[in-house]
Amino acid sequence: MICNMKTIIKEAANSNYIVPGFNVFGYEDAIAVVRAAEELNKPSLLMINKLAADYMPIEYWGKLLRAIAEDAKVPISVHLDHCKNFDLIIRAIKSGFSSVMYDGSQLPIEENIKRTKEITKVAKVFDVSVEGEIGSVPYADIPGHAKDLLTKVDDAVRFTTETNVDWVAVAVGQVHRLQHTKSEINFDILKEIQNNISKPIVIHGGSGIKETDLIKMTKYKVGKINVGTSLRMAFGEELKHQVIKNPEEFDRIKLFSEPSKAVIEVTKKMFNILDSNN
Ligand SMILES: [Zn+2]
Repeated sequence: MICNMKTIIKEAANSNYIVPGFNVFGYEDAIAVVRAAEELNKPSLLMINKLAADYMPIEYWGKLLRAIAEDAKVPISVHLDHCKNFDLIIRAIKSGFSSVMYDGSQLPIEENIKRTKEITKVAKVFDVSVEGEIGSVPYADIPGHAKDLLTKVDDAVRFTTETNVDWVAVAVGQVHRLQHTKSEINFDILKEIQNNISKPIVIHGGSGIKETDLIKMTKYKVGKINVGTSLRMAFGEELKHQVIKNPEEFDRIKLFSEPSKAVIEVTKKMFNILDSNN
């Protein structure tokens, strides 16, 4: 069932589990995430990042992912991740997305607040959830991208109070798109942020966080964690393996079968790590 996750992520922030949002790039990984979520009876988010939004029109993503989410046996949100473009967010809302992230993290705080507020105002009308970002999480493959590597607690308080976002993404040492190394999480800052704001915290760069740190985060007021790279790697590596193993095979439906199973396994593992009730 389609769900904007407002209540579920709020509950998760105050419980011993975290809702994972997964970046997907097509039908195969989207349906794999939903199958894993159904098997474990967990809510989740199918998320579209900038690379995916550049690859296929947002309207197609909205229709495809919304149909998958509506048929799912568990609550699923269709989420637009890291969007800096007001018009694209409006198009996403019109085409069925149930939550959106406005990323003003590279702007001065006044500008970030102003623009995020414009988005929350429109999104509320359509019952779409809004995620904002204060501080910024760097990318392993885009050197020099980030403005502030760690979120300042005062900024987080001001941002969440003035913007009325549903959740806030913060930077506490994590890095996007890490493949083989892990980031160092600053739990002191995370604690200080959670003690001073009333909104659920979102952590990006989930693939690059140590398993022990992810488990530790379930005890914090983290409501959502974004995961992308580990699924892309699982799908891509298994696909390469299948191509080498079956040099005569040209049918993509057959070649995609094992990679899809690999995504289900990685997704299930992440659901289990993020639930300390297990
Ligand atoms: Zn991110």
